[in-house]
Amino acid sequence: MKDLPSRIKDLAMQRIDILLENALKNARDNMKLAQRQASIARRICMKFNIRLPYEKRQLFCKGCKKFIVPGLNALVRVESRPKAIRIKCLECGHVYRKIIERKISDQNLNISNDEDKLQKA
Ligand SMILES: [Zn+2]
Repeated sequence: MKDLPSRIKDLAMQRIDILLENALKNARDNMKLAQRQASIARRICMKFNIRLPYEKRQLFCKGCKKFIVPGLNALVRVESRPKAIRIKCLECGHVYRKIIERKISDQNLNISNDEDKLQKA
């Protein structure tokens, strides 16, 4: 694939951000519109070869590629042993599991810190 000027990629990323932001806003009232906005965002990603950051990537089901929102059409659970996040798509039933390592959890979530305190107390 030919190299695209970075400003076009920047523009594409801005559009993806706007589309996903609106999709999240609309998800509760108008899921159909949200799905459409998200699928357009996903198509732009593919066209411009853009890899979404993790928090945006998890808005799409790994199975059916649909837009999934926790609390609406996705179930998010935290498993304790091993520490993992489990995201279940309620559209197709696909379960995505991400194991949280100690290092990552120290940075992003303070779960392990709290546990350390509990053990000392
Ligand atoms: Zn799915």
